[in-house]
Amino acid sequence: MAHNWTNSPLVMGYEVVIGFETHAQLSTQSKIFSRAATAFGAEPNTQACAVDLALPGTLPVMNKGAVERAIEFGLAIGAHIAPTSIFARKNYFYPDLPKGYQISQFEIPVVQGGLVEFFMPEVKGVAEKKSVRLVRAHLEEDAGKSLHEDFVGQTGIDLNRAGTPLLEIVTEPDMRSSTEAVAYAKELHKIVTWIGICDGNMQEGSFRCDANVSVRKPGKPLGIRREIKNLNSFKFMQQAIDFEVRWQIEQIEDGHAIEQATVLFNPDTGETRAMRSKEDAADYRYFPDPDLPPLCISEQWVQQIRAQMAELPRVMAERFVREHGLPEYDATTLTQSKAMATYFEDAARACGHAKLVSNWIMGEISRRLNADGIAIETAPVRPLQLAALVSRIADGTISNNAARQVFEEIWSGAETNIDAIIETKGLRQMNDSSALENIIDQVLASNAKNVEEFRAGKGKAFNALVGQIMKASKGKANPQQVNDFLRAKLSA
Ligand code: ADP
Ligand code: MG
Repeated sequence: MAHNWTNSPLVMGYEVVIGFETHAQLSTQSKIFSRAATAFGAEPNTQACAVDLALPGTLPVMNKGAVERAIEFGLAIGAHIAPTSIFARKNYFYPDLPKGYQISQFEIPVVQGGLVEFFMPEVKGVAEKKSVRLVRAHLEEDAGKSLHEDFVGQTGIDLNRAGTPLLEIVTEPDMRSSTEAVAYAKELHKIVTWIGICDGNMQEGSFRCDANVSVRKPGKPLGIRREIKNLNSFKFMQQAIDFEVRWQIEQIEDGHAIEQATVLFNPDTGETRAMRSKEDAADYRYFPDPDLPPLCISEQWVQQIRAQMAELPRVMAERFVREHGLPEYDATTLTQSKAMATYFEDAARACGHAKLVSNWIMGEISRRLNADGIAIETAPVRPLQLAALVSRIADGTISNNAARQVFEEIWSGAETNIDAIIETKGLRQMNDSSALENIIDQVLASNAKNVEEFRAGKGKAFNALVGQIMKASKGKANPQQVNDFLRAKLSA
C-alpha cells in the first residue's frame, strides 16, 4: 500500500503533529553508575553487579565518560550545557527495574535546547530544508529486559542492560509528516554516530525512537497524542506513524475522542495497538536522588571537550559549500558519513572538479554501493581514480558515456589504470576539429532534406543532424563541439 499521502502537509484535512523522544545508548565501556560492562549479547545476568541489582548498601557513582558524551552531543546541536543539573528518581514498578525507580533527570537536564537541521528527501529535484527544535537531552539509566521468547508460561529477566547509560533526546512537536519524522531521526542518528557517542545499532536497541503523534484541524490547539514506543528501524517508523495518523483521523471522523496512550507497533500486521494508558509525570513521583550530588560541569571542561571534537557534519557541509563551491544539498548528502565525506574531499582535492566529483558520488557510486551492498570505504574505485576519471571528462578526453564504461572496468576489477582503459577500449573523444568537420560535411551532403527543414525553421531537424554526426563518429565526437560546428556551418 502506498503511504505517500503523509508527505503532504494535510492528511484528509488534518495537520499531523509529531514529537520524538529518542534513547541513545552511550558508548561507554562501563555502566552509568557502576563498573559493570555494557557489552551487548553477553549471557543473561552476567553483567549486572550489586549496584545494578540495587542490593542494599550500594551507592551509584557517576560515570564521567557518560557525562562527556552528553556534553559532546549538546555541543554538536548548539545546545546550552547546564553548569549544574540534577538526578531524579522516576518511580514505577516493573519486573526489569530492580530498584523500583529509574535514575533520570527531570527538572534540570544536562543539555537544554538546541536544533537539528536536515533536508527532506528530494521531490522533483528539490530538497526542502527543515529544522526541529530540541527541548532537552538528559542522562538516565536503562532498565533490564524481560525475555518472553525462550519460556513457556514464564518470563525471564535479564539485568545485563540495567544501568546502561542512555541519553534521552526530546524534541518540540515540530514535525508535520512521517517523512519529516524519518528524515529527522536519520539526521539525529548521523549526528550521534558521527561524534561517536552511540554505536547507532538499531537492531540491538542502541538507538530507539518513540514517536508522539497527534492530528488536528489547521489552526486548532494541539490534539491529544499517542506515543508509539521503541521504533527500531526507519522503515517501521514510517509505517507506524502512517498507520497511527490514519487510525486517529478515522476515530475522530467517527466521533470518538482520542485518549492519551502508549502504543506498540506490530511489524507483522503494520498496526499500532494500545499498550497502556499513558502515565503523567505525577504518576512517577519524581524527586531528587539523595544518593547523587548535583552534576557540576565547568566552562573549562566544556571548552576542553569542544577543542577535542572532530569537525561536525553540519560544519563540514558548510565548509564544502564555501571551499568547494558545492550546492548545500550536495554538501549535506556527502556528509552523511565521515567515510563518504573523506572520500569526496580526497577526490575533489586531487582533481579540483568538486561538483563533478560530487555528481559521481551521489549518482553512479552510490548506486553501485547499494547494488553491491558495500560501504564506500571498500568501493573498488578509489578517490584518486575517481579524480583521474573526472579530470579526463573535464579536459574533454572522454565523454560522460565513455566515462561510465571506464568506471565499470575499474569497479569490476578488470583494470586499474584509467588512461590504459581509454586507449585499449578506444574511448578517446574526437577532439581533432578537421576530422569532425569532414564528418559534418559528409552528413550534411547526404541529408539534404534535414538541412532544408532546418532552414525552414524546424528545430527537430537540427537534432536529427546531430544524431547522424554522433553516429558517424561512432559516439566519439564531443557533443558540444558538434553543436557549435553544426550551427556555424548551417548559418554560414
Ligand atoms: P512525556 O515526557 O510525558 O512523554 P512531554 O511533554 O515531555 O511528555 O512530551 C514528550 C514528547 O511529545 C515531546 O517530544 C513533545 O514534543 C511531544 N508532544 C507533546 N505534545 C504533543 C502533541 N499534542 N502531539 C504530538 N507530539 C506531542
Ligand atoms: Mg514520553
